[in-house]
Amino acid sequence: MIDTNSDWKDLREAIRVMSKSFPESYWRERDQKREYPIDFVKSLTKAGYLACLIPEKYGGSGLNIRAASVILEEIHRYGGNGAACHAQMYTMGSLLKYGSDELKEKYLYQIANGDLRLQAFGVTEPSSGTDTLSIKTSAIKKGKKYIINGQKVWTSRAEHSDLIMLLAKTNKNSSESKNTLSLFLIDMRSYIGKEIIIKPIRTMINHSTTEIFFDNLEVDENCIIGEEGKGFNYILDGLNAERLLIASECIGDAKYFIDKSIQYGNQREVFGRPIGKNQGVQFPVAKAYSRTFAAELTLIKGCELFNDGLKCGKEANMSKLLAAEASWEAAEATMQAYGGFSFAEEYNIERKFRETRLYQIAPVSTNMILAYIAHKVLGFPRSY
Ligand SMILES: Cc1cc2nc3c(=O)[nH]c(=O)nc-3n(C[C@H](O)[C@H](O)[C@H](O)COP(=O)(O)OP(=O)(O)OC[C@H]3O[C@@H](n4cnc5c(N)ncnc54)[C@H](O)[C@@H]3O)c2cc1C
Repeated sequence: MIDTNSDWKDLREAIRVMSKSFPESYWRERDQKREYPIDFVKSLTKAGYLACLIPEKYGGSGLNIRAASVILEEIHRYGGNGAACHAQMYTMGSLLKYGSDELKEKYLYQIANGDLRLQAFGVTEPSSGTDTLSIKTSAIKKGKKYIINGQKVWTSRAEHSDLIMLLAKTNKNSSESKNTLSLFLIDMRSYIGKEIIIKPIRTMINHSTTEIFFDNLEVDENCIIGEEGKGFNYILDGLNAERLLIASECIGDAKYFIDKSIQYGNQREVFGRPIGKNQGVQFPVAKAYSRTFAAELTLIKGCELFNDGLKCGKEANMSKLLAAEASWEAAEATMQAYGGFSFAEEYNIERKFRETRLYQIAPVSTNMILAYIAHKVLGFPRSY
């Protein structure tokens, strides 16, 4: 694919070596049992990869978004799934950019050394869906506390996280709905089972996702990230990082599938010759490869702009769109190339096929990306 020699070669190699301790059988077993990959996340944390975006002064390695992108890509390329831990990377921007020094001092060292897990990001609610501005979970100021009530859905990894970054409505009266939301960083540990109830949702993939109920949860006013009423803007600001990192996971998936197709296409013989000799098997893989290549170039461009502090909404959104399509196209091609064996759990293809389908829907659906490009890049009138 892209020449990776100049693109974090050592980091890629380190993740490849680490992935050997977590082979596909490890991920298959976790999937079958719907278990969170605790050992994998611990290893990643211990090696410092999860703290790659935390500045050195807070105990992290202070790397840039491309490094984080490469880590997630390589995890996926070798059959793993970064969804077990990616939220810590893509929520970091909001905390670093807008969090108070007090909040950063309190939590960042402990997140960096693995004593605290920041894996839960609570935005989506049952009735609001994609329309984030219409969320109902409220955080009402009372003295030096906020009282939080409401419900979130699809809050992934909440059972495996100490902290949650939570979006809630703080001002019901503002005329501008985007000024009604605020972002909080909450240590959930002493509230679970009481003011915070977490219920797992079983899904078609192993994603440890949940619904969360908040019942008169009282948190200190200092839990707020930045200013009250600006939470929606902070989330929007962090979306480019999220898009770039998810695109990286898709690129990793696409490369995983392409590698598998080539390997199997050359090795499996039917009618006395390798199935890969048939153009019907080659061409879908060649198409998926080309799309992956284009997506990767767009991703690299997006990361460069992001690292230089320049506008990258177009590139971040397009890379997520192209990469999610590329991984799906590669998944389809590989399912077809493996024939009946693609359905056997032992071959891992069906698991990755299910997993990579998610990216058309979450964390943001393809339609919303297309709407961004149509409205913000091409200047069409807003459709919603
Ligand atoms: C496994 C999983 C993990 C998740 N993890 C998290 C998490 O950790 N934290 C979190 O906050 N959320 C999480 N989500 C939620 C995810 O971000 C939402 O599912 C997603 O944003 C879409 O919301 P919805 O499912 O309510 O769909 P809806 O908003 O109901 O939309 C349904 C469909 O209609 C389309 N649609 C809606 N409005 C428009 C429009 N104006 N134009 C065009 N199409 C439109 C959407 O694109 C979508 O395809 C997760 C979801 C899943 C499935």
